[in-house]
Amino acid sequence: MSTIFSKIISGELPATIVYQDDLVTAFRDIHPVAPVHILIVPNAEIPTVNDLTEGDERAAGRMFLAARKIAEQEGIAESGYRLIVNCNRDGGQEVYHLHMHLVGGRRMGPIVARPSD
Ligand code: 5GP
Repeated sequence: MSTIFSKIISGELPATIVYQDDLVTAFRDIHPVAPVHILIVPNAEIPTVNDLTEGDERAAGRMFLAARKIAEQEGIAESGYRLIVNCNRDGGQEVYHLHMHLVGGRRMGPIVARPSD
């Protein structure tokens, strides 16, 4: 069964794709939390960070290079941005197809809310 993100990558589901190459695809998050909120996803279906293998090294590295290019493209490279990868339940992962959030365009708050917040 393919993931929602695989369906976006193949064009089966709509999304605003901002970058695509042989290893990764990036598209705008459907529920943005900042003026710029883009998901960078390996084209291969890797569920979580826990599932990464040595063979995924190029794809994992490409996610960072894509982030750098997209930040430049979106005009937020200088002002700054945050890259987030959630893993499993405690990490808050909702979609089990590895992805990196690129968020920017506003000042970010603390990296993680305290339990009392
Ligand atoms: P996670 O919590 O797994 O790290 O983040 C999943 C992200 O995927 C969420 O920010 C959510 O808004 C986004 N998302 C879920 N379904 C879709 C979709 O169908 N299209 C797009 N563009 N984003 C989605």
